[in-house]
Amino acid sequence: MARLADYNTDVQLKATVKKNTRHTPPDVDDIREIILDIESGDVAIQPGQSIGVLMKGDNDFGAHWHHRLYSIADLPKKIANGYQVKILVKRCFYVDEFSGERFKGIASNYLCDLKAGDHLIVTGPFGLPFEVPDDKTSDLILIGLGTGIAPFRAFVKHIYKNVKNWKGRIRLFYGARSGLEMVYMNNKKNDFANYYDEETFKAFEALSPRPHWSDPISLDYALEQRSEEIINMLNKPNTRIYVAGYEKIEDMLDKAFATILGSEDEWKRRKAEWLAGGRWQEIIY
Ligand SMILES: Cc1cc2nc3c(=O)[nH]c(=O)nc-3n(C[C@H](O)[C@H](O)[C@H](O)COP(=O)(O)OP(=O)(O)OC[C@H]3O[C@@H](n4cnc5c(N)ncnc54)[C@H](O)[C@@H]3O)c2cc1C
Repeated sequence: MARLADYNTDVQLKATVKKNTRHTPPDVDDIREIILDIESGDVAIQPGQSIGVLMKGDNDFGAHWHHRLYSIADLPKKIANGYQVKILVKRCFYVDEFSGERFKGIASNYLCDLKAGDHLIVTGPFGLPFEVPDDKTSDLILIGLGTGIAPFRAFVKHIYKNVKNWKGRIRLFYGARSGLEMVYMNNKKNDFANYYDEETFKAFEALSPRPHWSDPISLDYALEQRSEEIINMLNKPNTRIYVAGYEKIEDMLDKAFATILGSEDEWKRRKAEWLAGGRWQEIIY
């Protein structure tokens, strides 16, 4: 996986906020959809890519540049002199283990506080995962946690709207702390419902049993529940697995796949194989 410092910040694009909408109620994590007009000129911005946000931050050693990445959360729209993109941002906080002091995540708070008409500096686009395989019979397993839903929204839309005639199965497993945090899959807004008519598409939600506690989200359970189909998919040579979201998704997947595949050793062996063959792609943050 690439390190943040490896991303080039020399190309700096001007962007303007078109809209900043909170998608969650006040008593749960603040997750926002932010629409940006990016002056990228002829440089195309594509689904599956991320953009960087660059801003001046302060630390003990004075001002420095703070750079963070955000996945494109919908199909980018061509506009005069660039592209309009949506990103999905969770307002992050950090509590110092020793002092108990609460710090704001710099980029996420900066973005969540922006208003329509504000300008910012954007880098990229960065062509990371997730590319669509050429073989339309490939089964795709998509696993997202929290804002990790963002790249899948663009990815699934791209497959059914642009690539078309997908023949393989697409299974989306998505975990969040409560139904209200299911930003793109709740009662008010259910983008993925657009694809429920597609024979090949199914989405499965996993929620924490107690939304206001930091209980683990039962994404592992949702996967284990469907282990028969997952094993069937994994045994096909052209199946791809895509993972996106917070770091803790790794522990959940370690647990779930060790159970599904029968042992931890078998899981480690298969994952190494899939990674080496480009069949496992992940965005972990
Ligand atoms: C490819 C990619 C795609 C991403 N896509 C998305 C996306 O679609 N949506 C999204 O919301 N995020 C996404 N992220 C994560 C995002 O880039 C940021 O990491 C996240 O928003 C937090 O950045 P921040 O500047 O707000 O927090 P920072 O200020 O960088 O703090 C980040 C974390 O560091 C820790 N921290 C903070 N201060 C300290 C300290 N003094 N000492 C020790 N630790 C500390 C805390 O855990 C804190 O939450 C993505 C990341 C990658 C790599």
